[in-house]
Amino acid sequence: MSVIERLKQAAGPGGFREDADEIAPHLTEWRGKYTGHSPLLLKPATTAEVSAILRLCNDGGTALVTQGGNTGLVGGQIPLHGEVLLSTGRLNKLRAVDEGGMTLTTEAGVTLAQIQQTAAGKHFLFPLSLASEGSCTIGGNIATNAGGTHVLRYGMTRALVLGLEVVLADGTVLEMLRALHKDNSGYDLKQIFIGSEGTLGVITAATLRLFPLPDVSVTAFAAVPSSDAAVTLLGAMQAHTGGMLSAFELMPRIAMELVTKHIAGTRDPLAAPSPWYVLMEATGGRHANLAASFEDGLAAAITDGLATDAVVASSAAQAQSLWKLRESISESQKREGASIKHDIAVPVAAVPAFLAKATPAVLRLVPGARPVSFGHLGDGNIHFNFNAPKPGDDADFLALWEEVQQTVHDIVKEFGGSISAEHGIGAMKVAQLPRYKSHDELDAMRALKRAFDPKNILNPGKLIPPVLRL
Ligand SMILES: Cc1cc2nc3c(=O)[nH]c(=O)nc-3n(C[C@H](O)[C@H](O)[C@H](O)COP(=O)(O)OP(=O)(O)OC[C@H]3O[C@@H](n4cnc5c(N)ncnc54)[C@H](O)[C@@H]3O)c2cc1C
Repeated sequence: MSVIERLKQAAGPGGFREDADEIAPHLTEWRGKYTGHSPLLLKPATTAEVSAILRLCNDGGTALVTQGGNTGLVGGQIPLHGEVLLSTGRLNKLRAVDEGGMTLTTEAGVTLAQIQQTAAGKHFLFPLSLASEGSCTIGGNIATNAGGTHVLRYGMTRALVLGLEVVLADGTVLEMLRALHKDNSGYDLKQIFIGSEGTLGVITAATLRLFPLPDVSVTAFAAVPSSDAAVTLLGAMQAHTGGMLSAFELMPRIAMELVTKHIAGTRDPLAAPSPWYVLMEATGGRHANLAASFEDGLAAAITDGLATDAVVASSAAQAQSLWKLRESISESQKREGASIKHDIAVPVAAVPAFLAKATPAVLRLVPGARPVSFGHLGDGNIHFNFNAPKPGDDADFLALWEEVQQTVHDIVKEFGGSISAEHGIGAMKVAQLPRYKSHDELDAMRALKRAFDPKNILNPGKLIPPVLRL
């Protein structure tokens, strides 16, 4: 019997698709940058089925790509070389909520939005929050160590995971679903799989940390004269609120223009245009006088010239419409036409100097390109993006992607930054990694890969650059 027939048997009835039309939506991704092909889509519903599938793949040397919600932005979830595709869509059971221990145990294919809603239904917060939360899965979030808008307060996904269940390349199930905050009984193995982008194992379940649902949430949208002022404002607002900021997002004027042009139901909430804006949020308990401290901080910022105008949301609906401005930037950029994107991080205080150096460097390469640099200023993570000079220039503009990217990433390196703050390496950045990560670090990564996946069946060609032989 062929490997494909045996894999179909292992996935069980209803656990696979061979029809090209049914596989097609899994072969391209959100940005349309990567298209793959695959003879078989496997949809296991249990950890035991995942284990049987991986054992067969390993025995036969059959390569496999794992896919969650297919919202990844670096092509990691796409079978670029005809690999078998494993979707976690049927690993969709929320196993338990432990209210006393404030944990939630779930299978990997559950969407982030479902987890947030389940937590909120029990008056808890699961603080991971991304614009893709309706489609992305918790398995994908863990595999990419996703960031999002609340890292400032709660950390990356890594900080939210207490336990994992992982199936290794040879089918071994690593049962590590512990709900422990402290466990120094050896290497913390789960950490190796967090951010491993499907190259070391398939995550089938996780135990996550929950937090009390804040009673008070204050959201403001402020006009700021410069990115320097925005960084100073971040420190001032943290001091005023006693470190209670949960988000601090930067956006430039052009982002406001693109969003209000392309996204129905959005409008500029402030009277006069400003070069930069900050969307900030503070959350806490009902007894702390958070709203008053927050508003005092904003008033002081306006007096000190750190902000020129601001609006504080007076209802949850108003807060949502302010968030919509921020969360629609990617979509509006896409509707405007082609863009060249970077997901970079530098130390928070270095963001203005980075922007001041990298923006003109790109404009020298592509005169007229439109910088749309926005993102999680609170964590030093900027989506350093450029739209084509005008709609219609797409092909000529995109042809410059590699050159622009290398220029930007070289400047990121000068600032001691990262070429991937939160999206990962996947297929998109694997060729550049040797330029920005030391030889020794890459060798250590390759040693881990060999230890966990000696036959290189899991997401081959992604994340780990091949050794160059001269
Ligand atoms: C509009 C939009 C906004 C976004 N905003 C953010 C943001 O703010 N912050 C951020 O970090 N990301 C963001 N992303 C990127 C994306 O949503 C995240 O990377 C997300 O974590 C991917 O989850 P997924 O389930 O879609 O994974 P997929 O796209 O299916 O897969 C991503 C990677 O994880 C691997 N993988 C998936 N599931 C598993 C599993 N169970 N076990 C092992 N490996 C697995 C895949 O092989 C692939 O390498 C955004 C994407 C979009 C489209």
